[in-house]
Amino acid sequence: QEDNFKNVISHAKEYGYVFQSSEIYDGLSAVYDYAQNGVELKKNIREYWWKAMVQMNENIVGLDSAIFMHPTTWKASGHVDAFNDPLIDNKDSKKRYRADVLIEDHVAKIEAKIEKEVSKAAKRFGDAFDQEQFEATNPRVLRYKEEADTIMKRMAGSLEKEDLQDVKNLIEELGIACPLSGSKNWTDVKQFNLMFGTKLGASAESAMDLYLRPETAQGIFVNFLNVQKTGRMKIPFGIAQVGKAFRNEIVARQFIFRMREFEQMEMQFFIKPGTQGEWYETWKERRMKWHLSLGIGEENYRFHDHEKLAHYADAAADIEFRFPFGLKELEGIHSRTDFDLGRHEEFSGKKLQYFDPETQESYVPYVIETSIGLDRMFLAVFSNALQEETLENGSTRTVLKLPAVLAPTKVAILPLVKKDGLPEVAMQLLEELQWDFNVTYDEKDAVGRRYRRQDAVGTPFCVTVDHQTLEDNTVTLRYRDSMEQIRIPMSEVAAKVAGEVDM
Ligand code: ATP
Repeated sequence: QEDNFKNVISHAKEYGYVFQSSEIYDGLSAVYDYAQNGVELKKNIREYWWKAMVQMNENIVGLDSAIFMHPTTWKASGHVDAFNDPLIDNKDSKKRYRADVLIEDHVAKIEAKIEKEVSKAAKRFGDAFDQEQFEATNPRVLRYKEEADTIMKRMAGSLEKEDLQDVKNLIEELGIACPLSGSKNWTDVKQFNLMFGTKLGASAESAMDLYLRPETAQGIFVNFLNVQKTGRMKIPFGIAQVGKAFRNEIVARQFIFRMREFEQMEMQFFIKPGTQGEWYETWKERRMKWHLSLGIGEENYRFHDHEKLAHYADAAADIEFRFPFGLKELEGIHSRTDFDLGRHEEFSGKKLQYFDPETQESYVPYVIETSIGLDRMFLAVFSNALQEETLENGSTRTVLKLPAVLAPTKVAILPLVKKDGLPEVAMQLLEELQWDFNVTYDEKDAVGRRYRRQDAVGTPFCVTVDHQTLEDNTVTLRYRDSMEQIRIPMSEVAAKVAGEVDM
């Protein structure tokens, strides 16, 4: 698993997807740059989301609000007081950890024991194995489950009550050691705010303290009435936005899974109070459908319903994805009630109410939120696509099986040889296709090597121009995943590719 993840990171660098930020200065921790192919994949994911959310929904519109917001925004939203991580230092290694993550990692080890029991039993029973039944009855599994559950409940409870001493007690009782040094010599647990602060204004006296936004959602809430009125929107309606967010993350060691600067794709759906149960279920279902439409495999996703709810929510679930390091949150769907609009009313002194023309009533709408990290989605798509395949002749190939709609380059055009007028014909085809798709041209090395290069970078189609092309205007179209090759008229390439890569 760990090797898998290392491969993902090195492949992302080698093929121009993701670089460490400021690499020549040894990088900046948990900050990354998207390279020539990464920027295209990221753009395609963003567009795929935007199309599904904004273009395909009559009642959802877009927004691009500023990263800087009035500082009172973050008082109202609760981020100044409650957007904290509980941190603990190890006195010997001087390393800092998130206390909740240390405990979760401990629980993950217990869960791994359950999985081991299950796979042992699966082998023993063969076809007759009923996993659900086994997990519900096997005494050892039940004991592990109870142990994991008790720990998680106690941690959630203590964090909720802000009982940081008990969080420390729990770490000590469980005998959790510093992953680096093995030492169990811990400091007290302290809350640490995740927002980055900065200043607006020139002189020290008049400067105003600002925060870099830790989520895009608040830009939507403060614009709610402007959009509703100018767009003459009727409830239910949504506002969608994609943009940068910043968090001073402490545990930032999982590549682009957890970054200090990242991008979110969020949609806030405004509804009538009392209808949140239905809309929450609807959006859970719609968002899962969106994921499955990419064909990445149902078995890689699962819902995780939250027991411990954030201060603003009356229901919340994550869509988890099977990353190379395990099942982890990819997207959140939250029923936020009227918490945000209500707080902004309170702090701004302005009414943020919707007038319902049918019932002639005014009310503060409830909100269902869908929130997904663009970078995290990138990692999901990329890590799942990267595969080592053994071919029939025993050789292996590295192939990046990105969904064709998301691939950075759709077609590579390859003249079989660098002479006899083949490059000219190939360039002509390139010019024909280039308005509609990202196309690339490659004439270096043997054609087999060029195919492998395109496989590794994720290009779904290669078109080869050869001597026969000069006679009958046909070319070879090669499919990345099946490696199948077909002969088609050059004039049909555009339509063939469009059929597979259109969103
Ligand atoms: P986590 O528990 O992983 O810290 P969260 O519950 O704080 O995430 P939300 O505040 O609900 O996350 O943010 C919504 C989405 O934004 C997440 O599902 C994730 O995809 C993305 N996200 C949050 N924090 C980061 C980060 N530091 N780097 C990359 N993506 C992030």
